[in-house]
Amino acid sequence: MTTDIQIARAATKRPIAEIAEKLDLGLDQILPYGHDKAKITHDAIASLEGKPKGRLILVTAITPTPAGEGKTTTTVGLGDALNRIGKRATICIREASLGPNFGMKGGAAGGGHAQIVPMEEMNLHFTGDFHAITSAHNLLAAMIDNHIYWGNALDIDTRRITWRRVMDMNDRALRDVALGLGGVSNGFVRQSGFDITVASEVMAILCLASNLADLQQRLGRIVIGYSRDRQPVTARDLKADGAMTALLKDALQPNLVQTLENNPALVHGGPFANIAHGCNSVMATRTALRLSDYVVTEAGFGADLGAEKFLDIKCRLAGLSPSAAVLVATIRALKMNGGVAKADLGGEDVAAVTRGCANLGRHIENLRGFGLPVVVAVNHFDGDSENEIAALQDYCAHHGVKVVIARHWAQGGAGAEDLAREVVALAEGEVDFHTLYPDSMPLWQKIETICTRIYRASHAEAAPGIRQQLEIWEEAGHGHLPVCIAKTQYSFSTDPSLHGAPEGHIVPVREVRLNAGAGFVVAICGEIMTMPGLPRHPAAETIGVDADGQIDGLF
Ligand code: ADP
Ligand code: MG
Repeated sequence: MTTDIQIARAATKRPIAEIAEKLDLGLDQILPYGHDKAKITHDAIASLEGKPKGRLILVTAITPTPAGEGKTTTTVGLGDALNRIGKRATICIREASLGPNFGMKGGAAGGGHAQIVPMEEMNLHFTGDFHAITSAHNLLAAMIDNHIYWGNALDIDTRRITWRRVMDMNDRALRDVALGLGGVSNGFVRQSGFDITVASEVMAILCLASNLADLQQRLGRIVIGYSRDRQPVTARDLKADGAMTALLKDALQPNLVQTLENNPALVHGGPFANIAHGCNSVMATRTALRLSDYVVTEAGFGADLGAEKFLDIKCRLAGLSPSAAVLVATIRALKMNGGVAKADLGGEDVAAVTRGCANLGRHIENLRGFGLPVVVAVNHFDGDSENEIAALQDYCAHHGVKVVIARHWAQGGAGAEDLAREVVALAEGEVDFHTLYPDSMPLWQKIETICTRIYRASHAEAAPGIRQQLEIWEEAGHGHLPVCIAKTQYSFSTDPSLHGAPEGHIVPVREVRLNAGAGFVVAICGEIMTMPGLPRHPAAETIGVDADGQIDGLF
């Protein structure tokens, strides 16, 4: 079998200027980064203001399992298929975090014959955006400790600093560290730690900013901690927002690359999907919408987390209105949601598929609750049996939802043309998109609304201190913000082992965080890891460069 990297390497790439031309972008409107990557300039983006907008299609999925669903693969395959049936379609996905590539295998550029290239670069340094974000984040961290060192005029309480440092590497040894050891000239000792770059609020900010001025405004609003009299201290108080914007000026421009079939893809930004909203940048999505008839984009995790955040955070803040949702399911993942262990996925099990469909049905209802038309895309795997597929088709027929078998992984865009036609039919009909809750709803009620309406919990609960904290933020003028729930992606509940469609559970909110710059409040439910570690045998042990200078072992 050919691997993803072998297929990607065999691709016939077109020079990036030709891909730009497909979007009617001239050479003066792109900044090439080598032969096959370019940024779309701030000037070009500004000149698109007021142009008509294409239709936005969200690709989301059932509750994830270790069997994999293939959201990115389907996003790419659908984009290629739309182009094949004569639509001008652009794909918008996230950039990859570098660190996790050295832990477990698995890239972020799609798979099989539905991939974005150059995939090695996209998964490693790419155009340097994440390095810029890391630098901007750590500049603010350095300015905090420097401010304290030189007398602490803002009276920052060193016990209440919430701004940590970041690095794009899986490194558990940095989760908790002591800063400032070694004597008077190294500053004041305090405890802190590192998160992975994709967990940085700067990442979320870059992905939600509309332009450079808005970026600086948002960076300025970052709350880094509190003063001795409990007042919030911001990045603007430290005068860090200007220099941070300077570091991010180029990174804010979306990256243009291509699919294996030479169609345009904007790959830009990559916030965590748990403590952040988990989708690509607003800059890229808006730009793509002005340059194409159709924009296909992906949200992280299952639809309960990814789609909900895409709709209630990104679409709300950016004024975007999607036209349809594609719900990706695989027979394998349905079987796991129906209680089959990963090791037993090989054999046919029609009853398990039917049981797993409860999970699919819940996601369909939820998406329809947002007013979105839905189509189920079955990402076809070699071992799927006819009987299992028929069981899924039966379920969908009973629930009045179209289901399309998509074979883009094996066949490229040609394998997803049926899906593309169905998406066009849905998107060209009436769509009545609305968010789940209004801005004006109190913060705690927003949390409860998501927990009861989307996760189908009986209620959410939190210690009095947490409710009080939310009220303090409301009084300080943050009550209009949407809520970003950080919880396990493996279940509608907070227990990752509860598959299918559980209901009536309780969602305990352990902690709340204010991301005043990005513009949302995070509610943490359960253990959330913001600095991953490497496994016993990390992929890094087998990655290398061969005699021809090609990277080996990455995927
Ligand atoms: P997600 O975006 O949902 O995390 P991806 O699209 O990145 O998933 O796919 C994860 C992995 O599964 C990739 O390595 C991809 O090659 C593989 N994969 C996706 N679809 C198929 C398929 N139909 N058959 C075999 N492997 C697949
Ligand atoms: Mg993905």
